Amino acid sequence: KVTIFWFRRDLRLSDNIGLFKAYENEKNVLPLFIFDEDILDNLEEKKDPRVQFIHSQVKNLHKKLKEYDSSILVRKGKPLAIFTELTKEYTIQNVYTNRDYEPYARDRDKRVEEFLAEKDIPFKDFKDQVIFEKDEITNNEGSFYQVFTPYSKVWLQKLKELDMELVDLDGRKKSFYKTAPLPFPSLKDIGFEESSIEIPELKIDEKLIQDYDKTRNFPAKSGTSRLGIHLRFGTISIRRLVQEAAELNGTYLNELIWREFYMMILYQKPSVIDSSFKEKYDRILWSNDEEAFQKWCKGKTGYPMVDAGMRELNSTGYMHNRVRMITASFLTKHLLIDWRWGEAYFASKLLDFELSSNNGGWQWAAGTGTDAQPYFRIFNPESQMNKFDKDKKYIKKWVPEYGTSDYPEPIIEHKKARERALETYKEALAK
Ligand code: FAD
Repeated sequence: KVTIFWFRRDLRLSDNIGLFKAYENEKNVLPLFIFDEDILDNLEEKKDPRVQFIHSQVKNLHKKLKEYDSSILVRKGKPLAIFTELTKEYTIQNVYTNRDYEPYARDRDKRVEEFLAEKDIPFKDFKDQVIFEKDEITNNEGSFYQVFTPYSKVWLQKLKELDMELVDLDGRKKSFYKTAPLPFPSLKDIGFEESSIEIPELKIDEKLIQDYDKTRNFPAKSGTSRLGIHLRFGTISIRRLVQEAAELNGTYLNELIWREFYMMILYQKPSVIDSSFKEKYDRILWSNDEEAFQKWCKGKTGYPMVDAGMRELNSTGYMHNRVRMITASFLTKHLLIDWRWGEAYFASKLLDFELSSNNGGWQWAAGTGTDAQPYFRIFNPESQMNKFDKDKKYIKKWVPEYGTSDYPEPIIEHKKARERALETYKEALAK
């Protein structure tokens, strides 16, 4: 008889709420990780650094669980099929897991829960990846907030009232299922290969967070925490990070609130995945010029700030937030290319890709989202460069041919592009 703890985007043993609850309440807890074919089969790149990261972190869990005389069961397939197999192999008493709010995950969990219910196996899920989830922060009428500032005020107020105690398994070995290490597949076994892209280390740098509000906007500085991928796959506990942030820097904490705001929006309005948050913006007639899109992807637009950002993304899987805003604004407003194209490109490349934040960021830049940049405010990439990369340190790093004859002419003239964007948006909204 076992209780399964199903790891998904919470790849850590410490302060993992669902795991802790299983450990406290049940016996013979057997951890499980599924390399989900419904997700992996959609990835085109076999050298995907994110899959490699997940694989290495699950391996870490495999190693750590030896200390508890236990192991992790690793399977590859479609979750429902795996659970069908497992109910034949084990007598399962419960399945514990942490909640995941993305539309695909909600649907997956619903199907697994229904399948287990037929066999009288309870499916117990917990809040773990956020401080306040889906419907915990609402306005006086009980509806969800559609703009950030009032949401963040309530969020901060509720944080003050919260008794946030971190939980740990330390020292108590009793509840895990006792087993010799279970077989562990190689990256190749799951159909992937090693990538040369480096993953930022997991480190809470107090000094950096203290100075965050002063350094965060300058892409040439290492002024942001690079914790995105760790938050995405739960190798860090959000509770631990929020505790630090609340002590060290309000601006940093505010960014963590944006993360939850966009997760809440995705939960409350899943249609944002393929439609504009403000529906009438779906009337915009995008130019969707393929050739221009390819130049943007490759960092060959002739706008150094845009090109530097895209090249940083292509070679490291990261792009600084300031530059994400500039490149996204450029694609949607200067080139009049549908934000969904840019969103998909970022999704394929970003190590810290998070459906809710990526969607929120793109809709913000395109002017179609919750608190969006109004459509008539169009970033001038050149003045952005002069403001945030005055010494051209960032530009020189990523666009070494800048200033020579090898560097392309601007793909479109700024003033012309600006006028075209204003006209197109105005026309769409007037309909
Ligand atoms: P830090 O600046 O150190 O911030 C710490 C953490 O706070 C981040 O790791 C992230 O979890 C959260 N955070 C910071 N800024 C934001 C924000 N504006 N919205 C939501 N959460 C935030 N963030 C993602 O995590 N995944 C994405 O796929 C993503 N796509 C984006 C696309 C566009 C077009 C834009 C404009 C922004 C996007 N962001 C995304 C938000 C932001 O750019 C990144 O979170 C940040 O640059 C990651 O670097 P960091 O870990 O050093 O962040």
